[in-house]
Amino acid sequence: MIEPGATIGILGGGQLGRMLSMAAAQLGYRCHIYAPERDSIAAEVSAAFTCADWTDTDALARFAQDCDVITLEFENIPVAPLRAIPESMLAPNLLALEVAQDRLKEKRFVEDLGGRPAPFAAVDSREDLEQALERIGTPGIVKTTRDGYDGKGQWRISSVHEAQGVPLAGQQLVYEGFVQFDAEFSVILARGQDGEIRFWDSAENVHEDGILARSTVPACPLVLDQLETARMIATDVSDALGYVGVLTLEFFATADGPVFNEMAPRVHNSGHWSIEGALTSQFENHIRAICGLPLGDTALTAPRVEMRNLIGKEALKGPAILADPANHLHLYGKAEARKGRKMGHVTRLVRD
Ligand code: AMP
Repeated sequence: MIEPGATIGILGGGQLGRMLSMAAAQLGYRCHIYAPERDSIAAEVSAAFTCADWTDTDALARFAQDCDVITLEFENIPVAPLRAIPESMLAPNLLALEVAQDRLKEKRFVEDLGGRPAPFAAVDSREDLEQALERIGTPGIVKTTRDGYDGKGQWRISSVHEAQGVPLAGQQLVYEGFVQFDAEFSVILARGQDGEIRFWDSAENVHEDGILARSTVPACPLVLDQLETARMIATDVSDALGYVGVLTLEFFATADGPVFNEMAPRVHNSGHWSIEGALTSQFENHIRAICGLPLGDTALTAPRVEMRNLIGKEALKGPAILADPANHLHLYGKAEARKGRKMGHVTRLVRD
């Protein structure tokens, strides 16, 4: 067990790190943030900050010397330099990071365990793309295998002709068939060092322009019907990875059952509602799991919980949102309200 008072290292300096650090502080831990950007909204609420590149192995080794356990809030970190950190200190482990940061690897990993991704094909050349279009058909989406988030690095294709506009040079891509889904949902679990797993209720997620806009619990009946299958897949994935911490799998609910979309080896935007909407939040249970503490109860605190992201200038309305006492406001302290930027979120507990 990592005793309270110890130092938790967090790779990544954004809002997820900020909320992890706040949950860690409640349990008596101090956090040390490692991030390449000088302005870190996670470092603002943490005890220590190392600002260095992901490839700076000396800085990573020094960072590890100050920490008792190291976790992450961002998965697009090159794996090789992380070997400068003793692997026993990392939770989740490097295998989880390697699988989850590569769309092809994660689809194959989940498929091998019996899960069902959308039909997909690896695309490295124009010829690969033509073959993929022939086999899978249109509409579909070309995605970069790495570094994509919030809909970035994606090209929607409704005809073979449109595929000619996709830039192919210099990046590994995957083509996937467009899934006709009725709803989107996420399965978020915490897995302890002893293998104990706890799930939160699954939120139904609505995306706008590829970015999560709203998460609502409970999800619609179709999602609830598919939860058992989706949770079985998530359990198998976390067991196969020897996972410790919070893991998220995103699914499409279709007429033929759940289709796996992607996974994140970390706390997730679609679980922010759990700060007020669950007895123990995803952030607190992640800290508990990586420190070897017992996991907390994930039951709901209200019959219905709604989380809405505040994107770009929407955040300026923040204080007015508090006029309704059912609303809980979270602003991440980002200086610039740029278009498409997640600035905060508001969670509403609905009791009637
Ligand atoms: P992603 O970054 O892959 O999670 O994609 C962001 C969002 O785009 C998803 O949450 C879906 O709303 C949509 N999307 C991505 N892939 C597909 C697909 N194969 N079929 C239908 N919608 C998709």
